[in-house]
Amino acid sequence: MPDKFEKIETTRVKELDEILGKPFKVLDDGFIRVVDYMGSDSSVVQAARVSYGKGTKKKRQDRGLIRYLLRHKHTTPFEMCEIKFHIRIPMDAWRQWIRHRTANVNEYSTRYSIAIDSSQTTQPDEWRIQSKSNKQGSTGYFDSQIGTEFSEDEKKLHNLARETYNKRIKAGVAREQARKDLPLSTYTEAYWKIDLHNLLHFLKLRMEKNAQLEIRKYAEIIGNEIVSRWVPYTWEAFLDYQMNSYNLSHIEMKILRSMLQEDHETVILIASEAGWLKMKEDKLIMNLERAEFEEKLEELGVKKPW
Ligand SMILES: Cc1cc2nc3c(=O)[nH]c(=O)nc-3n(C[C@H](O)[C@H](O)[C@H](O)COP(=O)(O)OP(=O)(O)OC[C@H]3O[C@@H](n4cnc5c(N)ncnc54)[C@H](O)[C@@H]3O)c2cc1C
Repeated sequence: MPDKFEKIETTRVKELDEILGKPFKVLDDGFIRVVDYMGSDSSVVQAARVSYGKGTKKKRQDRGLIRYLLRHKHTTPFEMCEIKFHIRIPMDAWRQWIRHRTANVNEYSTRYSIAIDSSQTTQPDEWRIQSKSNKQGSTGYFDSQIGTEFSEDEKKLHNLARETYNKRIKAGVAREQARKDLPLSTYTEAYWKIDLHNLLHFLKLRMEKNAQLEIRKYAEIIGNEIVSRWVPYTWEAFLDYQMNSYNLSHIEMKILRSMLQEDHETVILIASEAGWLKMKEDKLIMNLERAEFEEKLEELGVKKPW
């Protein structure tokens, strides 16, 4: 056993302490707040340095080390930090949220307690149109005249569901059964604890533009308002290397290389061999991989080569 150990001090992050317990409003009646946390950027650095057998260094070097760790997917040091949230969220978004298995959860029980008397409502200008290209997504909004009708229907439905629920409860129906016809828009609450590594994974998936808007709103607050204060170096590196970066597949790299060499023939050959350029009635058939590559080119300000 070593003769001396370094002194252990509980890590506090002033910027996060300032918002501890403070609810951030999300959607019409949801919220998210930090209940507790453990660790900071320094804890990530400290854990990593244990594995390299080196002590604490200067701040500038800490930033570099965090960036290195994230860039090279040396992820376990990020598991040294944990955070616990209290969330109020509509059940349909919660259903997506709960798929992230690497967290600890305790949810409000509607078997034990009366269901929260609040449902997420949609304003007339918030009804989204089903996307034709992405079966899981939406593009644009209905005009608010039609939207007004949808919102009125929504209100009637919510009222009927709540009245039916209240009637059952009043008559003594078991809470576990009385709840069965409550809509998925009903708010639920939960405590949710997760380590930083898995939280970043959650944010990567749920802050993406193809994540459903409702869950994205929560993820954006966690990222932009909370994680950015808690672990600023990690947050900066995450935005750089994960959130705002792209991977290129081997096919994409070969095409891009040929584009840079202005070798159009090879570009078309590679894309054709990959099955990206199939035609029907003089039009390119939709190909998801090609479309995603085109998006990456657009992001880089490069014209698509076909
Ligand atoms: C845009 C989008 C659309 C989606 N559409 C659907 C859908 O249509 N239907 C559907 O059912 N789900 C859907 N999902 C949910 C998705 O498939 C994942 O279940 C969810 O995003 C959680 O991701 P995860 O498993 O990586 O996260 P976590 O459960 O937090 O796990 C994190 C990581 O830990 C590892 N891990 C965790 N548990 C295990 C395990 N048991 N075995 C091996 N490795 C494990 C994996 O590496 C995993 O990536 C969708 C998600 C997104 C973001």
